[in-house]
Amino acid sequence: MSDTAPPTDRRFDVAVVGAGPAGLAAATLLAEEGFATALVAPPARPDDVRTTALLGGSIPFLRRLGVLTAIEAAGAPLATMRLVDATDRLIRAPEANFHAREIGLSSFGVNIVNRDLTRILDEKIATLPNLVRIAEAVTTVAPLPDRIDLVTASGATVSARLAVAADGKGSRLREAAGIATTTWAHPQSALVLNLAHERPHFDVSTEFHTATGPYVLVPLPGNRSSVVLIETPEEAERLRALSDADLSAELERRARSLLGRMTVEPGRQVWPLASLVAKSYGANRVALVGETAHTFPPIGAQGLNLTLRDVAALGEILAKARREKEDLGAPAVLARYERARRLDVETRARGVDLANRALLSDLLPVQAARAFGFFLADRFGPLRRLVMREGLTPSLVAPRLMRGLDLPRG
Ligand SMILES: Cc1cc2nc3c(=O)[nH]c(=O)nc-3n(C[C@H](O)[C@H](O)[C@H](O)COP(=O)(O)OP(=O)(O)OC[C@H]3O[C@@H](n4cnc5c(N)ncnc54)[C@H](O)[C@@H]3O)c2cc1C
Repeated sequence: MSDTAPPTDRRFDVAVVGAGPAGLAAATLLAEEGFATALVAPPARPDDVRTTALLGGSIPFLRRLGVLTAIEAAGAPLATMRLVDATDRLIRAPEANFHAREIGLSSFGVNIVNRDLTRILDEKIATLPNLVRIAEAVTTVAPLPDRIDLVTASGATVSARLAVAADGKGSRLREAAGIATTTWAHPQSALVLNLAHERPHFDVSTEFHTATGPYVLVPLPGNRSSVVLIETPEEAERLRALSDADLSAELERRARSLLGRMTVEPGRQVWPLASLVAKSYGANRVALVGETAHTFPPIGAQGLNLTLRDVAALGEILAKARREKEDLGAPAVLARYERARRLDVETRARGVDLANRALLSDLLPVQAARAFGFFLADRFGPLRRLVMREGLTPSLVAPRLMRGLDLPRG
């Protein structure tokens, strides 16, 4: 049920703060699981032209949320991932192609424009009887012994046992909970846009690895693809300022005319790349999900898939806490969430960082190791399949909802 009127002194089991993909997914799951849920946030930004490749365990999870059919209708399947070494370095890796059918799948997942993803989740949320939506920012956060109070921009107070912080990388809730972060910058920015092309993509996503970062073309419905091009900040800005015709020609040249003539669509964004990992995922009645807990460069389509694993794991832990009649915001519950997520988040953050550094490095031994890794993954079947499966969803830490299982009842 949607309710945009600011409430006063309302009590909820859980208050989710932030209406990006992380907050919308968390609010949907928790309300569906029967928790009295508040979603407190202004609407997600309507101008986000980024797309998300939803992969592996995200697919059964989104089916469980009841939004997969709409996502599949709005997005494009990803059947093959092609990696091309376009570095012009002395030691170059061979091209590697990973086909979903090799691991018994018709596709690795679906690529969808973020705007469509948030619209679909928003529409789902409007149907949930356990959910109250408060379309305002949180201005003050007060963790108390038995609850957490959130004061909104209009001065209303929303109280809950637990606040789920999905308010992005500059999170106010994380700060109020006293959770520190480790951050580091990258000498790169991502130019993001969507384009049409002459030839079909045949559901193949292509990643050109260049000495400044990857240039990725990910299928969208029809003869269209989304572009993420990682460059030096100066070059990303130069490209953004080009005319449509010049930028289209430049992107076609960099793609070696693989998809024929290209035509960029309106809307270009440049995202400076930065990494952040929270030192804890929960404290003082606040649990972190999504970019509030981890932010890293868009390499290997990890960010939002990792986020959905946060949400699924938190849902599982809260459902168990409720069965055992525990306080949902108790330190022991948050410690369980921390244990469930730490390994996955740190492995992905380090993996993405390493892949990025290996690409940028001019050192011959690093180039050789990278090329050898590509070679092994391309030629050695069992390793290929392991890379594909673990790249989609890590088997050791996959929450039940990511494995197509429901949460236990009772
Ligand atoms: C260029 C680029 C490409 C990417 N491509 C992929 C990809 O292919 N696959 C993938 O998995 N991931 C990808 N990612 C990562 C993914 O886009 C992000 O992880 C995701 O969008 C972040 O979602 P979020 O909900 O955590 O944060 P956000 O989208 O930042 O949402 C935070 C929300 O909190 C709200 N908010 C902030 N402060 C408050 C407050 N005080 N009160 C209430 N609300 C507040 C904001 O209004 C906002 O709506 C990419 C990232 C980038 C930069």
